[in-house]
This record gives sequence, structure tokens and C-alpha cells, in this order.
Amino acid sequence: MSDCLFCKIVSGDLDAEIVYENEDLVAFRDINPQAPVHLLIIPKKAIATINDIDEEDAGLVGHLYVVAGKLAVQYGFAKDGYRCVMNCNEHGGQSVYHIHLHL
Ligand code: 5GP
Repeated sequence: MSDCLFCKIVSGDLDAEIVYENEDLVAFRDINPQAPVHLLIIPKKAIATINDIDEEDAGLVGHLYVVAGKLAVQYGFAKDGYRCVMNCNEHGGQSVYHIHLHL
């Protein structure tokens, strides 16, 4: 089994508070929230970092933002505004090596 925490959330081997799921993506609450609502939106496909995103993943990565926008509406802060961040590697503050969009 993969050691990747977020692969385990995708496979159901690790519990998470999942707020959205489709064929390609999962969104769940961050275990250590930095805001009243702090969600992580991830592709089910294991892509370690932004540096590993291929051309063929462009649609998938774009879809992370589509879901972020929908969740922002659902949680009621779309109009007021919010931050979406994806960290890359050590100097970017990345700690889990499965790409994730912080919402
Ligand atoms: P990064 O530092 O890689 O940009 O963000 C990783 C995020 O994953 C952190 O905000 C951290 O709180 C969250 N996180 C780490 N382990 C777990 C976990 O097991 N479950 C959940 N739901 N979030 C996690």
C-alpha cells in the first residue's frame, strides 16, 4: 500500500471528513484548519507536486478550481472572497506529497 496519506484517504484506508467526491476528485476538511472553513481538494490520481503535473493532467487540475468555486458557494463565502493555495516542495511549505488545493 502507498505511504501517501492522501492516497489512503482516497482509498478509504484513512478517515477524513469528506465534503465532496466525484470520479476524479475528493474534497475533505483539513485536520489542522487555518480558517473557519479549511478544505483540501485533491485529485484521486497520485501526483506528488506541481512539478509532476503533465499536460494530460491540465483538465484534472483545472477541475480542482471548479470544485473550489462550487464549495465556496456552498459554504457561503464565494462573494466575500477566499484564498486557494497549492504549495510546492520544501521551500513552498509542502508537507504532503500528493497535490492538494487549500480552500
Ligand atoms: P501542505 O503543507 O502540504 O500544503 O498541506 C498539507 C495539509 O494537510 C496541512 O494543512 C495539514 O493540516 C493537512 N493534513 C495532514 N495530514 C492530514 C490528515 O491525515 N488528514 C487531513 N484531513 N488533513 C491532513
